Amino acid sequence: MRHQKFTPRADYRLAEAQRTQASVSLAEKFQELKSLTVEFGHFSPEGVTRNSQIKYTVNPEFAKSVFRLDCPNSECIGGDYDLSEALAQTVAARESTASGEMCCQGWLSKTTIDRVHCHNILRYKLSLEYGVRAAKAPGELQAA
Ligand SMILES: [Zn+2]
Repeated sequence: MRHQKFTPRADYRLAEAQRTQASVSLAEKFQELKSLTVEFGHFSPEGVTRNSQIKYTVNPEFAKSVFRLDCPNSECIGGDYDLSEALAQTVAARESTASGEMCCQGWLSKTTIDRVHCHNILRYKLSLEYGVRAAKAPGELQAA
């Protein structure tokens, strides 16, 4: 029998928050990155949309390089979406946009741990702007 002050969900979120806080800023990790816009929508495991598309721009000076988005399932344990790797690959390739899909690997709820995965789907699009060393020509606008 384990004595826990927090639920597994709160424990996980706390650990992830600490990992994020401990990471360097995006500007520090990717020195040429001048701006990052993230657009995303959450979908159920069947691919049905759950909410409207969300879009926001982060300031690399303040945003952390552990770049994660919360799973919309309020019972989800050990999941969420970590876009850090996708972002690192996009910057390494000097691409101005990247889009993809991630499946939440957490558990559906505390009663289904080790049995049923959450598997919510995140579809995202990253739009990046680089500094003076950017290879892309200026004026290359992407339609939203
Ligand atoms: Zn989840």
